[in-house]
Amino acid sequence: MSFAGKPQVWFLTGSQHLYGQETLDQVAAQSQQIQRMLADSGRISAEIVWKPVLTDAAAIRSIMQTANNDPSCVGVIAWMHTFSPAKMWITGLDLLRKPLLHLHTQLNEALPWSTIDMDFMNLNQAAHGDREFAYVQTRIGVARKTVAGHASDPQLAERIDGWARAAAGFAHMRSLRLARFGDNMRDVAVTEGDKVEAELRFGVSVNTYGVNDLVEVVDAVPDADIDLLVADYAEAYRLAPELARGAERHASLRYAARIEIGLRSFLDDGGFGAFTTNFQDLGGLRQLPGLAVQRLMADGYGFGGEGDWKTSALLAAVKAMGAGTGRGTSFMEDYTYHFGPGEPKVLGAHMLEVCPTIAEEVPSCEIHALGIGDREDPVRLVFDASPGPAVVIGLADLGDRFRLVANEIEVVAPDEPLPNLPVARAVWRPAPSLSTSAECWLTAGGPHHTVLTQAVGPETLHDFATMAATELVLIDSSTTPAQFGDRLRWNAAYHRLAAGMR
Ligand code: MN
Repeated sequence: MSFAGKPQVWFLTGSQHLYGQETLDQVAAQSQQIQRMLADSGRISAEIVWKPVLTDAAAIRSIMQTANNDPSCVGVIAWMHTFSPAKMWITGLDLLRKPLLHLHTQLNEALPWSTIDMDFMNLNQAAHGDREFAYVQTRIGVARKTVAGHASDPQLAERIDGWARAAAGFAHMRSLRLARFGDNMRDVAVTEGDKVEAELRFGVSVNTYGVNDLVEVVDAVPDADIDLLVADYAEAYRLAPELARGAERHASLRYAARIEIGLRSFLDDGGFGAFTTNFQDLGGLRQLPGLAVQRLMADGYGFGGEGDWKTSALLAAVKAMGAGTGRGTSFMEDYTYHFGPGEPKVLGAHMLEVCPTIAEEVPSCEIHALGIGDREDPVRLVFDASPGPAVVIGLADLGDRFRLVANEIEVVAPDEPLPNLPVARAVWRPAPSLSTSAECWLTAGGPHHTVLTQAVGPETLHDFATMAATELVLIDSSTTPAQFGDRLRWNAAYHRLAAGMR
């Protein structure tokens, strides 16, 4: 699938007419310098688009409406250069439907102690101008992120990038279409959920197709297309000898390629950016889709196993957030534990469907029996995940609202090689410890399916939750079960009040 071009973030500057046109020209020049510092930092993935200085309510309403209607604009940054009486922002902020970042900064980094005069003071007064603006944002209850610091600070640029990535993921999810092949795995609770509420809250449209609609497309794939794709597989992966052209199981690799081409064209023809499968409902498919799902995830499609549309949609959004980082994001499941000796760890995997963007080395393409699913042996990629910091995040439907549960983790090398495990996997140490992480996750009712990302951090995921007006509880190095339990109770009260009557 193709994502739209580089997302834009609009840079809005507030001022007023009190000081005359000459000063306003200076304000414009200084605001452009801030915009260039951010754009030239090389750390912000979105295009920072400068807009003319705003000095009255009509212009502010107009730019907010234009931002709402422009699909390339994923969010707006506002900065009050000058003391800008903020009543003029009330109706514009009330109209704004895109994510908002309040940048609290000023052009000058160092005070010129020996030469400072009132001209300098009047050109560097965001310290109080932004406070007036923040009061109005708080007064009318505008959801926003606030970032304070000098525009030349690389950390500030990175935090703006994190927010812009969250906004890109949110924009992706707002228009996401998700195809489910079959329903949920029978009798499972956590993969259920309110699809109507999800479309209102996140924008994603979730619809089910009979798996044999897909089988028709898969069966019609021309042999010549399969020839080309299996040649790509042989180039891209360490191919098991039995799957090579002319070897005894090559036909299975060709059928895996047939699934990939059919599935990809079904999704692209329908404008779908995410999908689910269900091993209990494979219709005329001869293999459980493994390799195909892994490769589609690597291209940015969301996926959830066993009909899990919530994790699939979340995966698509997080992949959009991590675009261009060179780091990976995958569907994941907490599978089994190592309680010791040594540090306790989680071994995460799935039946087949782990995304090769998190692979440490070139994956190996293999075929093995699969005890469940009642089909021919499926082809899959096998690898270990790259070590390093990551976050796992899951989405649960609590009945009256959605809850995101996240955990900071460190992906590590397995203690020993895993020669008999025929699936891709990730081994990690959860923060602050396996026992506290698991106790908190279970207390929050977090799902067993998650998105594991090495591409975006917890602050970006928190920004995304703010944009979607959805609870996010993070388990990190400072979490204790008692405090976490209290937070869940306070959050329950807040979210029930915030939802109001409807
Ligand atoms: Mn599963």
